[in-house]
Amino acid sequence: MRHPTAGIPGPYTSRTVGKAIISGNVTLKTAGEIDAMRAAGRLCAQALAAVANAIKPGATTLDLDTIAEAVIRDGGGEPTFKGYFGFPATLCTSLNEEIVHGIPTAKRVLRLGDVVKIDCGATLDGWIGDAAFTAQVGGATGKPKKLMDATEAGLAAGIEAMRAGGFLGDVSSAVEVVGRTNKVGIVTRYCGHGVGRRLHEEPSVPNVGTPGTGIPLVPGLVIAIEPMFTLGRADTVEMKDGWTVKTRDGSLAAHFEHTVAMTPDGPEILTLP
Ligand code: MG
Ligand code: MG
Repeated sequence: MRHPTAGIPGPYTSRTVGKAIISGNVTLKTAGEIDAMRAAGRLCAQALAAVANAIKPGATTLDLDTIAEAVIRDGGGEPTFKGYFGFPATLCTSLNEEIVHGIPTAKRVLRLGDVVKIDCGATLDGWIGDAAFTAQVGGATGKPKKLMDATEAGLAAGIEAMRAGGFLGDVSSAVEVVGRTNKVGIVTRYCGHGVGRRLHEEPSVPNVGTPGTGIPLVPGLVIAIEPMFTLGRADTVEMKDGWTVKTRDGSLAAHFEHTVAMTPDGPEILTLP
């Protein structure tokens, strides 16, 4: 079974459409295309903001999905994940030891203290924004808060590493260093990815790496950076529904993601409300 988000390391064959190619099938976006992706990213972020407001005890993961789909469709977009390799929903909703790709359902009721990962894709005018966040029901506290803070810091470090003259490995390494400094598990079975007209394009953006390696960070490169950290080991297992991925040891997981464009002035986060 293939997955809607968090690109599995491996061959994503993206079609080149007359754009400059810097390596393999990596396509660079023009300034105008990045404008279009910013609009898609904004819609994605607006859906996530609405979902964040609805994360309360008693809400179901299907309630959250319904809210996200309404925001996206009201904004003239389409839920990217719905139908992607058969995925049935607008959001991936993953609770506690689940890391990514959980399926929203009326049977999952949020309880105080649950750690909820929300991943959303919005397609607008053919362009895609992909972003995710983690929240704890009732407010972040204790070890879950530390894990969430570390994961969000990993994302921030990855974005900050997108400097002119740099390489993709700088991004991966920056995420990894934050994970190691915080002594969390760094999930490597799933990773970030290029994004554009397709949800998963080349290159893969691993959450571990070596500075100075990989493709150069040139203007027009657009990637989804998405660290997944755990309070235990990083080994994962796929559940019987064929989608939900959880930690093998049952430890708590967090996930944050932004779609980020490399511009002549440095990184620009496209998935902001
Ligand atoms: Mg995502
Ligand atoms: Mg993604």
